[in-house]
Amino acid sequence: MNKPRIVILGAGYGGLATTVKLQKQLGINDAHITLVNKHDYHYESTWLHESAAGTLHHDRSRYAIKDVINSGKVDFVQDTVTSIKPDDNKVILENSELDYDYLVVALGFEAATFGIPGLLENAFTIGNINQSRLIRQHIEYNFAKYNNEKEKNQDRLNIVVGGGGFTGIEFLGELGNRIPELCKEYDIDRSLVRIINVEAAPSILPGFDPQLVEYAMNSLEGKGVEFKLGAMLKECTPEGIVIEKDGEQEQIPTRTTVWAAGVRANSLVEESGLEHNRGKVEVKPDLRAPSHENVFVVGDCALIWNKETERPYPPTAQIAMQEADVCAHNIVMLVKGKDELESFTFNNQGTVASLGHGDAIGVVFGNKKLFGWSASVMKKIIDNRALFKIGGIGLLLKKGKFNIF
Ligand code: FAD
Repeated sequence: MNKPRIVILGAGYGGLATTVKLQKQLGINDAHITLVNKHDYHYESTWLHESAAGTLHHDRSRYAIKDVINSGKVDFVQDTVTSIKPDDNKVILENSELDYDYLVVALGFEAATFGIPGLLENAFTIGNINQSRLIRQHIEYNFAKYNNEKEKNQDRLNIVVGGGGFTGIEFLGELGNRIPELCKEYDIDRSLVRIINVEAAPSILPGFDPQLVEYAMNSLEGKGVEFKLGAMLKECTPEGIVIEKDGEQEQIPTRTTVWAAGVRANSLVEESGLEHNRGKVEVKPDLRAPSHENVFVVGDCALIWNKETERPYPPTAQIAMQEADVCAHNIVMLVKGKDELESFTFNNQGTVASLGHGDAIGVVFGNKKLFGWSASVMKKIIDNRALFKIGGIGLLLKKGKFNIF
């Protein structure tokens, strides 16, 4: 009898965690497992803001996929998915095609720019290792260039971060630590550098506890971050941005706009013909696509409603990894011909946002609020836990964050 073919697209949190679970739970004769990813490495998306600011080298944020998969059980294909054909049980890659019996779509997120003029062309986004490395180098280049020009260009020292949500705030925290180092390195007076956050909502971190939000704002302002709250980003050009607040427009000259105000599911999902809700597949409780029984969707490409808030769960690594457990279990059941599929329920283990090294805010263990150093230690525990879950103690020791002071 032919072995069922399981194809997993994407080796981020959702895809790699699913693969690692499957390789543990299925024998070599049970199924043929193929993992497809654009790069031969996995990156910790949740650490990318550190690499973008230059506080953590990008090599610390990634590891080789071959180090965590069992090549006797899983075929790894380094290639780019160009299209998913669920009606034909086929996936088209740049260099080949794959047929499957079961598919896991775990292709993650891409930036959503909401049609704001010039943003796509002129702003940076923090979405992968290449983008993070580019942001770091771009900021450094502008600092280096500043003292090499006859006329001083202030726009080289203005850094705009669009969005005061989780990613924007975490990036601002890292910038707050990095900028003084860069000023020292490039002989620039710190008071000349502006770090500006533009947020359309009246407050940063919407949905967070107000006391924690106040702490975060004070901490970031202490590091020199200026907040423009209730301000809409209207346009982004190579020379700067235009914002609108209370009906008044303001131009801010900058060569560095980092857009961190929105993500959407990988657009391949919308293009695939899978039934979707604004680009995400609203999966059934067992994480299968409603229109295709043999297609599972996990992570940022999946949409699941939180019945308590009547809103979709936000896209997080925490959810992606919990979905991976259920997805792998359900595929194993189907492969073994058992009718014991599990439903996904989210086990909220808390949320912690970093504000730079040694500082963070968060809510854990239900409703315990954490500030400062203790929150920052908790953040590192969460980061380390993800490594341990995928690669065990070996990966944790190699890549873990242990610098808690
Ligand atoms: P990803 O982890 O993004 O993985 C997708 C994978 O698919 C990648 O390996 C990518 O290379 C690959 N891929 C994409 N397109 C293709 C293609 N066409 N062909 C082949 N491969 C492809 N979440 C939290 O829970 N806590 C946090 O503190 C947190 N902080 C964050 C900070 C930042 C800066 C960012 C950007 C995100 C943060 N998130 C956080 C969100 C979290 O990173 C995502 O929700 C999570 O990565 C989603 O996992 P995923 O498996 O769906 O996708």
